[in-house]
Parts: sequence; structure tokens; C-alpha cells
Amino acid sequence: MRIDIITVLPELLESFLNHSIVQRAQDKGLVTLNIHNLRDYSVTRHRTVDDYAYGGGAGMVLMIEPIVNCLEQLKETCEYQEVIYMSPDGDPLQQSTANELSLLTNIIILCGHYKGIDERLRQHFITREVSIGDYVLSGGELPAAVLSDAIIRLIPGVLSDESSALSDSFQDGLVAPPVYTRPADFRGMTVPSILLSGHQDQIEKWRFEQSLKRTKERRPESGSQM
Ligand code: SAH
Repeated sequence: MRIDIITVLPELLESFLNHSIVQRAQDKGLVTLNIHNLRDYSVTRHRTVDDYAYGGGAGMVLMIEPIVNCLEQLKETCEYQEVIYMSPDGDPLQQSTANELSLLTNIIILCGHYKGIDERLRQHFITREVSIGDYVLSGGELPAAVLSDAIIRLIPGVLSDESSALSDSFQDGLVAPPVYTRPADFRGMTVPSILLSGHQDQIEKWRFEQSLKRTKERRPESGSQM
């Protein structure tokens, strides 16, 4: 899978790219992440990418031209299935969004900044808008990192134990059961004895029941739609 991220702050994404699962996925050749500095696509000598909003008001707006330049150059190199704009008013990111996007081969993620991007981009060039929650951050870089991470860990072969992504919260419409590791007794706080019993069938049954219980408590509105 190839993910191209367009940003005015490439440095903000670098540490994300060079660590952990994302780095491993790239090393294994399972994903290619390209970061594009929007300023490289500016049409002015000063590498300007933003301007005042028509109609006045505080806050700058990312201009249409550098972004379209970048999109057009990228589209010459391959065909993209989605051009995603990270936006607080986009579709709320769900596990199902990540599942769906992880099946694609080439996507672009555009990070906004300041007041956002020129609306004409959203109307004519963006195919999908994704929000990571009903709050406003200063830029789309962290949201883009969140979305990329959620997608990349689902690509087969990225996690060392492939089944572990499948047993995460939301994959089956349920949140995950509690997990424990050694020691079995920490200052009198003990691990449920069933987990030490060695009876795998009963352990799976217990985990399923715990998942159901937690889902009812923590996500009562959810069920099978996740
Ligand atoms: N004026 C805009 C907010 C701009 S915030 C509004 O009120 O909707 C600047 C940029 O940060 C946005 O263009 C977007 O790319 C990103 N961003 C901020 N919060 C976000 C969120 N919750 N989800 C996804 N992207 C977000």
C-alpha cells in the first residue's frame, strides 16, 4: 500500500514515520509512506501556501493552487482510490473506516492548517473527509498520523502476530476483554484464576463474556454496527 501525505509541517510527521510498527511496515516493504511538503508546490518565490480569507475575518486559508499542483503531480505517478482531507467536520473515524481503507492500494491524505483549505478543493478534488473526533486541533498532521496508524496495523504481515489486530476492540463490534501478564499476584491483586487454568475453551468463553459485559457498560449504543 502507498500513502502520500501532503502537509505544511513535514517535520511533525517524521518521528511517527521512523518508529515502531510504521517503520517496520516500511522496512518489510508492506507500505510506502511519502511525505510531501506543500511549500514545494507553491507558485510564489516565497513559497507561500496560504492567504487571507475572502470576506475577511481572522485566520489564513490554504490556497487551492499549490494543493492542486501537488495532487496533479502525484496523480501522474499512480492512480489513487481516495484523496482524503482530514477535517473536524468529516466522517468520524471508526474501525470500519480503517478496515475499508486498508484494502486500498494508493491513497492521498491532505492535512489542513490555519482556518482550513479553500472550499473549492473540498468540492472538486477531495473524495472523502475524515475526522478523528469532535474537537479542533491546529493542523491535520496528528489526525493524518492517527488515520495512517489505524490503517497500517491492519495490513497483513505488519503485526508480528496477525491475529492480534483481529482481536482488538471494535473488530467484531465488541470492545476487548481485560488482559493480564506476570506476576499472577501483585500485592494481593490477583489475576482471574480462569486465565491460569490452561483450559483454552473456558478461557475463550470467559473472554467473550467479558467483552460483552464491557461493551454493554462502555459502548451501550454499539452492537454489530462497528
Ligand atoms: N476552521 C476549521 C478548523 C481548522 S483546524 C473548523 O472550524 O472546522 C486546522 C486543520 O486541522 C484542519 O484543516 C484539519 O486538517 C485539521 N484538524 C483539526 N481538527 C481535526 C479533527 N478533529 N479531525 C481531523 N482533522 C482535524
